[in-house]
Amino acid sequence: MGIKLNLENIKSQIPIDVQLVAVSKTKPIEAIREAYDEGQRIFGENKAQEMADKYDFLPKDIQWHFIGHLQTNKVKYIAPFVSLIHSVDSFKLLAFINKEAERNNRVIDCLLQFYIATEESKFGFDLEEAETMLDSSEYNSLKNIHLTGVMGMATYTDNFDLIKSEFKQLKTYFDILKQKYFKNDSQFKEISMGMSGDYLLAIDEGSTLIRVGSSIFGERTYKK
Ligand SMILES: *Cc1c(COP(=O)(O)O)cnc(C)c1O
Repeated sequence: MGIKLNLENIKSQIPIDVQLVAVSKTKPIEAIREAYDEGQRIFGENKAQEMADKYDFLPKDIQWHFIGHLQTNKVKYIAPFVSLIHSVDSFKLLAFINKEAERNNRVIDCLLQFYIATEESKFGFDLEEAETMLDSSEYNSLKNIHLTGVMGMATYTDNFDLIKSEFKQLKTYFDILKQKYFKNDSQFKEISMGMSGDYLLAIDEGSTLIRVGSSIFGERTYKK
């Protein structure tokens, strides 16, 4: 169909217990359809409205993963169908997701995003903030969200030692939370880390969900 994807090549490199999120942000419906026809079912988007628009046009067995910073007033666009929100970075957001999930009679799976990078601009919890939330009665009263793991974004750098240490940090956070809060919850098992430049490293460090965009679909062009 004219669009050349690099999907098979990436799939051939990853173990079967690691899931591939094809990050289709900014890419047209046709590119997603092409990947779908090659068997891909999980797609990642970072804008709520864009995800909702694409959802309308595409097969309903696609699992839509939200991977970007999510504003509370945008949760309603994706709450009816989103299958995993990777980027929960505050209790306030989690409470909003819970409310919208309840309105839609669903339980929405979420990951806690941790701040692991050295850059100022990234979002996410630190360990203490996450533990404070998980200990709170407010969190424990939320019935329409289910935490299934953690997510992190490494520093944007070609220093692989730094990226590796950040992935290790996220794995440590996961292990601590698993032990302390989710020991008996077999569904708390996801570590979302690794992008086009570093997914093999992320898998070595324990990633269960890699988020790969440009290596599948080609470079993104932003019109702004
Ligand atoms: C865009 C994006 C990705 C994919 O980035 P690539 O470098 O194109 O693979 C992964 N995770 C998040 C949170 C993103 O916003």
